[in-house]
Amino acid sequence: MSAPELKNFINGQETGDAGGEDVINPATGEKIGSAPLSGAADVDAAVAAAKAAFDAWGHATPQERSTALLKIADSIDAAAEELAQLESANVGKPIEFAREELPQASDCLRYFAGAARNLEGRAAGEYMEGYTSMIRREPVGVVGQVAPWNYPLLMAVWKIGPALAAGNTVVLKPSEYTPLTTARLAEIVAEHVPAGVFNVIYGHGDPAGQALVTHHDVAMVSLTGSVPTGKWIARAAADSLKRVHLELGGKAPVVIFDDADLEAVIEGVKIGGYYNTGQDCTAACRVLAGPKVYDDFVSGLSEAVKELPVGDPTDETTEMGPLVSATQRDRVAGLVEGRSSSAELVTGGAAPDGAGYFYSPTVIAGVAQDDELVQKEVFGPVVTVQRFDSDEQAIEYANGVEYGLAASVWTRDVARAMNAARLLQFGAVWINDHMPLVSEMPHGGFKQSGYGKDLSMYALEDYTEIKHVMVNLA
Ligand code: NAD
Repeated sequence: MSAPELKNFINGQETGDAGGEDVINPATGEKIGSAPLSGAADVDAAVAAAKAAFDAWGHATPQERSTALLKIADSIDAAAEELAQLESANVGKPIEFAREELPQASDCLRYFAGAARNLEGRAAGEYMEGYTSMIRREPVGVVGQVAPWNYPLLMAVWKIGPALAAGNTVVLKPSEYTPLTTARLAEIVAEHVPAGVFNVIYGHGDPAGQALVTHHDVAMVSLTGSVPTGKWIARAAADSLKRVHLELGGKAPVVIFDDADLEAVIEGVKIGGYYNTGQDCTAACRVLAGPKVYDDFVSGLSEAVKELPVGDPTDETTEMGPLVSATQRDRVAGLVEGRSSSAELVTGGAAPDGAGYFYSPTVIAGVAQDDELVQKEVFGPVVTVQRFDSDEQAIEYANGVEYGLAASVWTRDVARAMNAARLLQFGAVWINDHMPLVSEMPHGGFKQSGYGKDLSMYALEDYTEIKHVMVNLA
């Protein structure tokens, strides 16, 4: 693979100088490309292009926007292997898992292509004598979108799908660590939408991200990222009252009641806790186990994760790659080393020598509710296991963190499952599974995991303004 030298993508074309900062393969530590460090002038140019394109795109018919999204989905399918290779090299994802994300990306766009043609306000009617009222749903304007490094292409697609379907134009900034697939996406999108509808700038939160989310002509900001970044953006947006859409961190509890199918839950956590090296906002990272299953779960999970094939992401049998950066690996190692004295490192906890930012799959048992490892998002291949004594305590522990993105409950008892689903303060609750998502259903957090939804009709609505039109019938 040649090393791409990226440029900003503004008004339908590459713009400005190449270079800026190296893009690194986290499995080898080697340079695999470079991306510009965009500044305020680049953001100004990208927002101006998006603003100029808004009038026509915002007034395009739903059919026209839908057709464009369907063509983008087809082009993603056609470029799937190339995109999977780029994503695997840039994020360190096992190639087989990177390949799995591509059909999800094109399906998301096809969903929003259909949704674009089904967007509606409530039915018109006469709510005051002599007047007819109707509701219009209109695009918000130029949307500034900021993406994370864990699923660079998929998160970009989750963002542009509803934004473009609703008639907005977009300036997107990928994470500074993982720009490669977004650059390729920009080329693909540009084949099917008018110049300026989708623009990409690069670089760090400061200054590129900050210039974008504070720009006067950006009407709405959408971030998938960490809680501190979300708070920074919400504060900054207050000055201009921009609409804010925040998909932030998580600390998903996995509640295992004593009547659960233990084999299924061990398999579920082996996948859900370590998929994408645990760098997943919904990772099954915080197990709460009932008194009768606790010991068997701890030993069963530890045995299972010792077998996980960790290593070269280009090897089709690899199931876990490196963390995205040395910084992220050091952060994960620091949290594991700083565990409380009562916590037991059952397996893992090691950063192997050699190239790449690898960290072994880790299980830590005997944690307490106020341990940092229980309260803080680790974002690495680390699963904690905590014991509970009653159903009430399980729910109390599960809800006892600042995050509220996703949770799972494992039991054969329907009433117990439904009761837990009702009481858990999370945007998604899985019963006897952990992690599956579908384009039709919303994904988004409660509490400090943010507000606004990705996927589903709810996301499309988030990217619209509601207008009341009232007609005097006299
Ligand atoms: P991050 O907050 O460090 O960075 C996210 C993006 O924000 C990057 O593009 C970064 O450059 C940019 N950024 C940083 N500071 C900014 C600022 N002040 N203004 C504008 N942009 C700024 O997050 P990350 O480390 O890249 O991603 C991991 C985080 O994302 C985790 O917390 C994870 O849980 C979360 N995440 C959430 C979801 C979800 O759907 N809720 C999905 C994936 C990841």
